[in-house]
Amino acid sequence: MLRFRPALAGLVAAGLLAVTGCGTTPPDSAAATPTPSEQPAPSPSEAPELPGTSDTAAPPPVVFSGEGGQPRIALTFDADMTQFMWNQLDSGEVASQANVAIFDYLETENIPATFFIGGMWAERYPEHMTRLADNPDFQLANHSYEHMGFTSDCYELGEIEVDAMAADVAKTFDLLEPYGGNQSRYFRFPGGCYDDVALEALQPLGLTVVQWDVVSGDPFATAAQPLVDAVLSTAQPGSIVVMHCNEGNAQYTDEALPDIVAGLREQGYEFVTLSELLGE
Ligand SMILES: [Zn+2]
Repeated sequence: MLRFRPALAGLVAAGLLAVTGCGTTPPDSAAATPTPSEQPAPSPSEAPELPGTSDTAAPPPVVFSGEGGQPRIALTFDADMTQFMWNQLDSGEVASQANVAIFDYLETENIPATFFIGGMWAERYPEHMTRLADNPDFQLANHSYEHMGFTSDCYELGEIEVDAMAADVAKTFDLLEPYGGNQSRYFRFPGGCYDDVALEALQPLGLTVVQWDVVSGDPFATAAQPLVDAVLSTAQPGSIVVMHCNEGNAQYTDEALPDIVAGLREQGYEFVTLSELLGE
């Protein structure tokens, strides 16, 4: 059985997470998002086998952790990209929002991980998308197209219109799908922000919302050790750990990761992808 919690708990947990996409999104950016009629939701028959596929007759399930019985943990990395972050890359203010050292480490150590990828991140980094998709230990999941808030008060992420929510998420599945690999119907809300309206808006997509129960606190961290301490002190069997592979906005994650992995292994944990953790 998966452990579900009310939406409120997600917002509380999200409060521990610093803003990942600082600044604001230009007001005209929403216009680039297709309307739901232009991007029809894929029918369940088009992706019947993907982990995370849910019944469209009800709002999507929301998962915060896996079963607690086994000493297994899913490391998850969000790949954020807002229009603001994109512009920072274009201007040279930020060199990169892809933390390649994380990919290098995970691959060298053969550690399974799951990546929640923003559609704009995928567009910015097709070469990294190919790399992630080609690794059988990595699972791909959806982190919205332009990382806007799905509630009215989601940090400073701006707010996507309700009518645009399904198209934003569907567009990202469409961007990820051609890369192949371990695809899924897992979705994580930007900033972890959601409510019943957002869940109902995404109901036609037949996905599973996957949040987290362990916060690394890596966005805008100023040192690696607090990340290590945060994860090692709160991890439990079945935990889902949220980190970021955004070099510009979470620059200590790659430095903390080896100590996080070593510490969790010392505690007897093994690492699995989300679908393995959730028994799919
Ligand atoms: Zn994010």
